[in-house]
Amino acid sequence: MNRRRVIQGLSGLALGMSGMPLAVTAAPRGSRRPHVGVIGAGIVGASIGMHLARAGALVTLFERTAPAAGATRNSFAWVDPWTLDLHYQQLRLRSIALYGRLDRELGLGMVWGGYIDWGASAAEARDVRDLAAALEGTRFAVRSLDAAQFRQLSPAIEPGPFAAAFYSGLDGHLDPVRVTGCFLAAAQRHGAQLKYPCEVTDVATRAGRVTAVVTREGVTPVDHLVIAAGVDTPRLLRMLGEELTLAHAPGILAHSVPGPVVTRMVYDGPAGLEFKQMADGSIVGTDSEQVPNLPQHALIREQPVDFPDEALRRQHGERILARLAQVMPAARGVALARLTLGFRVLPTDGLPIVGALPSSANAHVVATHSGVTLAPIMGKLVSEEILAQRHDLILAPYRPERMLRRSTVV
Ligand SMILES: Cc1cc2nc3c(=O)[nH]c(=O)nc-3n(C[C@H](O)[C@H](O)[C@H](O)COP(=O)(O)OP(=O)(O)OC[C@H]3O[C@@H](n4cnc5c(N)ncnc54)[C@H](O)[C@@H]3O)c2cc1C
Repeated sequence: MNRRRVIQGLSGLALGMSGMPLAVTAAPRGSRRPHVGVIGAGIVGASIGMHLARAGALVTLFERTAPAAGATRNSFAWVDPWTLDLHYQQLRLRSIALYGRLDRELGLGMVWGGYIDWGASAAEARDVRDLAAALEGTRFAVRSLDAAQFRQLSPAIEPGPFAAAFYSGLDGHLDPVRVTGCFLAAAQRHGAQLKYPCEVTDVATRAGRVTAVVTREGVTPVDHLVIAAGVDTPRLLRMLGEELTLAHAPGILAHSVPGPVVTRMVYDGPAGLEFKQMADGSIVGTDSEQVPNLPQHALIREQPVDFPDEALRRQHGERILARLAQVMPAARGVALARLTLGFRVLPTDGLPIVGALPSSANAHVVATHSGVTLAPIMGKLVSEEILAQRHDLILAPYRPERMLRRSTVV
């Protein structure tokens, strides 16, 4: 059977995946505002929907589960410029600047506390210095710290063995579920419709253009489509005859119960220990380089599936909190609230995929790691491309062509 189901013509009845007739939702008429369908209401889809709606488009967001249900909910949600690729760094810096404005306009509740990177060994010290050098010569230059300066700047942390550190005042962090909700609420204030739970099961095309989005509720005609479906993006693209492979990259985070707020910074410490404290005082951390290689992880290493049992989940959570307690007195004795397991939306070259599809003149795709950091700039630039045909050169290295292959299997 043709996996790339092409639904010809939208007058009358269309057939759904089950072969049952589907209702055809009336296209928004009496207006020249383009109707854009956005698949996925994670932080990236929500930002795109908001920017489109604010710029005057009619927007329908289709979300399979619930807003922020994918990678977004399970994100560490650190907003940061950190990469050694200077072009990519510019994209990230532009997004951070937009966050500043959106935070003031929409009350995102962001925590702008800066960032400390520190290492305990000679090898880690080298990495710390390389990263610090990445912003040298810019107006965002970082400050190197010795052990005494570290403790003075961040008295809530006891770093232990210390080789090198720097402080950046640029970084922030956020609650990804809250911020996604703020973006969606702003989109809805500008007339966007948010449909969930509402899984997109097919995409209709005619003569190389997307004509409609198909869900179990019916067929919704669209003038333009944006696919921002996280790790499910390849499945949606296959409906349009495009093949994309994403890397499989699980990540866990321990969340403690709330307590007194002792720091507003994000920390990247020795052996992959990353942590922050949310505005409500809960501590969120991970120890990516220390996760034990257990046989129970076999399936998780291959597919986006949940932990096989709660005991294993708790074991990871308690290990991370114990590590945090070594460097953060406020973490000593705090209880685990939850341990999340998320799957990064990770293109195989590590860089964003954003832009129009080669095969469909009116369809865009956005699939990116660091989607929390990049959501504002992705929303702005994708909206400008669709509504004003304005193509910002900063996106040139990230176009989908470099990663997509035309499907041969039908
Ligand atoms: C452990 C971890 C730590 C991270 N840390 C950071 C960090 O510190 N900083 C940072 O910037 N980024 C970080 N990221 C990455 C960031 O969280 C993601 O890049 C971002 O959340 C991706 O957002 P998204 O909207 O593209 O995808 P998602 O949040 O996955 O949203 C996609 C949505 O599409 C929906 N969907 C899928 N298929 C369909 C369909 N057929 N029909 C309708 N809806 C569908 C899903 O239900 C989902 O809600 C981290 C990620 C993880 C997992």
